[in-house]
Amino acid sequence: MEKTRKSELLVAALQNGTVIDHIPSDKVFDVVNLLGLTSIDTPITIGANLSSHKMGSKGIIKIADRYFTEKECSKLSVIAPNIVMSIIRDYEVVEKKRISMPNEICGIVKCGNPKCITNHEPMQTVFDVVDKDNGTLRCRYCNKDIHKGEIKLL
Ligand SMILES: [Zn+2]
Repeated sequence: MEKTRKSELLVAALQNGTVIDHIPSDKVFDVVNLLGLTSIDTPITIGANLSSHKMGSKGIIKIADRYFTEKECSKLSVIAPNIVMSIIRDYEVVEKKRISMPNEICGIVKCGNPKCITNHEPMQTVFDVVDKDNGTLRCRYCNKDIHKGEIKLL
């Protein structure tokens, strides 16, 4: 019994890769989609509905042998403000960073204005982040503000 449990732990520990933690439980699969994790072939562990002191319930994703660029990380800021990304090298956490909002967000958020040209033409949406603390985005085409709670992903 002891032995089995130990080997399970070894599978769960990452030698090299990225751990994405503090994901709201209902957003775990949004993270999977935004980072394109469905099409990579390194081992991925996805945990959802895990108990968390701070959040009540949270999700965590571990991706072996894969690191993400600043741009890829910044996409996650539209999902939740508190996502933490840890970089693992040789079983050690070498970097831990909280995902922050970039100055602009291209192509991942839908404009909430039904008349906006981006909802009618095959073009990429572009939003300026006008308030990073409150998570307010402004559409560059129609100037409509979108607040954190109203953000819809494309
Ligand atoms: Zn718009």
